[in-house]
Amino acid sequence: MCNLAPKQGIVNKIEHIGIAVKDLQASNELFAKLFGQPHYKTESVASEGVTTSFFQVGPNKIELLEATNEDSPIAKFLAKKGEGIHHLAFAVDNIEAEIKRLQGEGFTMIHEKPKKGADNKLVAFLHPKSSNGVLVELCQEIPRP
Ligand code: ZN
Repeated sequence: MCNLAPKQGIVNKIEHIGIAVKDLQASNELFAKLFGQPHYKTESVASEGVTTSFFQVGPNKIELLEATNEDSPIAKFLAKKGEGIHHLAFAVDNIEAEIKRLQGEGFTMIHEKPKKGADNKLVAFLHPKSSNGVLVELCQEIPRP
C-alpha cells in the first residue's frame, strides 16, 4: 500500500518517546532504577505548561512530562487517560516543509507553525485524531550559533 519510494522518506528516526507522569520527582527516581542511570536534564516549557526530564538509554531518549498547571495538555491527558505513553517524537530535517507535506497528505496539525520545545528543538504536534490515536511530535534540532 505504501507507494513512497524509500529515499523520499523525510521523517527520520524516533527522536524520543514521551511519557506523561503525575509526579516528576518520583518518576525520575523510578525510571533511574529502571534504566540504571539518572536523567541527564530537566527543563520547563512554559508555553506548554510542562516540566520535562530526559533519559538517554543507549541510542534512545525517553522524555518524562509533568504538568505545571491545570490547563496544560499533560494535565488534560492525565485526567482522561492516566499516566503512560503520551507521544512519539520523530526527528525531521526541515520541520516547515514536513508540516506542509503532512497537511497536503490530509493530516491535521495541532501546531501549523513550529514552536520552541524542550531540548533545543523546534517542534510541532499532529492531532492524534488524524494519526490513529497516536500523538506525533515532529522535531528539528535548532542549529547552535
Ligand atoms: Zn516530546
